[in-house]
Amino acid sequence: MLYKKKDLITKSYDVIIVGSGLAGLTAANKLAKNGRSVLLLEAHNKLGGFATWFRRQQGDHTFDISLHGFPVGMIKTCRKYWNKEIADRIHQLPEVRFINPQFNVSTTFTKEDFSRILVEEFGQTQETVKAFFEELANMNFYDDDRMTNRDLFQKFFPDRTDITRFLLEPIVYANGSNLEDPAISYGIVFSNFMSKGVYIFQGGTDTMINMMKEELLSNGVDIKLHTKIERVLIENGRAVGVEVNGQPVYAKSVLSNANLKTTIEKMVGRDHFSPEFLDESDKVRLNTSSCQVYMGIKKGESIPRVGDLVFYSEDKEFSTDLLLSPKVGSQTFSIYYPDTRPHLPEDHYAIVSSSNARWEDWANLTEDEYKKQKEYVINRALECVEKVIPGVREKIDYVDCATPRTVKRYTHHEKGASFGTKFEGLPVSQNLHKQIPGLFHAGSVGIIMSGWLGAANYGVIQSHEVDNYLDQINKQIQSEELHASQH
Ligand SMILES: Cc1cc2nc3c(=O)[nH]c(=O)nc-3n(C[C@H](O)[C@H](O)[C@H](O)COP(=O)(O)OP(=O)(O)OC[C@H]3O[C@@H](n4cnc5c(N)ncnc54)[C@H](O)[C@@H]3O)c2cc1C
Repeated sequence: MLYKKKDLITKSYDVIIVGSGLAGLTAANKLAKNGRSVLLLEAHNKLGGFATWFRRQQGDHTFDISLHGFPVGMIKTCRKYWNKEIADRIHQLPEVRFINPQFNVSTTFTKEDFSRILVEEFGQTQETVKAFFEELANMNFYDDDRMTNRDLFQKFFPDRTDITRFLLEPIVYANGSNLEDPAISYGIVFSNFMSKGVYIFQGGTDTMINMMKEELLSNGVDIKLHTKIERVLIENGRAVGVEVNGQPVYAKSVLSNANLKTTIEKMVGRDHFSPEFLDESDKVRLNTSSCQVYMGIKKGESIPRVGDLVFYSEDKEFSTDLLLSPKVGSQTFSIYYPDTRPHLPEDHYAIVSSSNARWEDWANLTEDEYKKQKEYVINRALECVEKVIPGVREKIDYVDCATPRTVKRYTHHEKGASFGTKFEGLPVSQNLHKQIPGLFHAGSVGIIMSGWLGAANYGVIQSHEVDNYLDQINKQIQSEELHASQH
């Protein structure tokens, strides 16, 4: 059932899930399919977390926030943990482009095509390219390998800043990774994408989340929106529920899809954790944030096909610092043609520019400075998109901008982190329930458990942990009941 805003929740549950990002949603569905009673609580007025959209001008424009591309693995994940209808709407993007001072190439983003470009455009030998892909394929997540992305590129393509840019830039946009991050996490994400190209959901994020909502309700998940959880209830060292508007709601377990650090520091509180665990958790770095510019094309106008995802940069060379800079030298244009939402009666075109950003560059601006900086980011997007699609400015009748502050406001991620935490967040997230039995976390941590596919898969992984815990608790309750009835 879908609770209304003012409804009081009096039932208790097997599990309460706090947050409906793709990890929270997928865990909720999996647990409900396994017969668990599930309550899903979301602070926002719609499900999805970053997997979201918004409409403007009476629905003339719909903008997707994070539907830019994900790996083919999402089809299997959706088929297995959601349903066939959702999986069947996932389609490959035909064309990914790179436009920058070092090269201008177009690709299907498959391993074959990337290999071809590395040989034909970047003059590498077949052997080097093969060896590079083999190195990635042989990377093992559990190996304690200290190689960084910088080391990896230096090993195969020494001093080739253009190749580093070609190989790393898309992954930076996909999960905020940089040259200093562990090569293992790059290798896994890149190999995922590289297997068969980049995919999106046909129908738009709104269609997908609505289909997921229907599936959740049909599997018996209770959902309440507009419900920000401030506190997880801990009794005798165990998680036993959450506080909803000052009222306790009880459950045998709680799975938090909120930011990992917020979960530990604010929703639970440091007092409940061991000093060793807090040491590890204090070392966890948040990921960087994002800016986006949303550009809507006037009704009745059209734009030519120039690629679906365009990695556009005016920076001379690839540099993480420049990518994060408020000067917005680099941005990715996602261009949505009418086939993104073929169900709409009229053709619908939209362009979304995404750029990586640092919270610190936005946090302390005065209102006036903030307004000016937003205008600057909008103008950069308009200026650059005009170079990709000449004449497009005339056709744009709606433009707006989201900043790290917007990200924080809508998702409650500390510092507007777009991709949760860095790599070291993963063991902290995985070990949460060892500190507080009954408390679990799923959501963007590290690079692999991030993005649509990573978040959804991590939701599945953590739902197994919740399931095991519930089995154990139920056995305990049964044996206590048996014991009581015998005396
Ligand atoms: C600009 C941008 C572009 C992106 N593009 C892509 C892309 O093209 N492809 C891709 O694969 N990934 C992309 N991503 C990343 C991807 O969207 C995320 O990694 C993924 O959706 C995160 O899912 P999550 O489960 O971690 O939860 P989140 O999406 O972070 O959602 C967490 C949810 O929890 C809720 N919440 C938090 N605290 C509370 C609380 N106390 N009480 C109740 N609810 C709470 C929030 O409101 C939110 O709904 C992009 C991200 C950004 C920001």
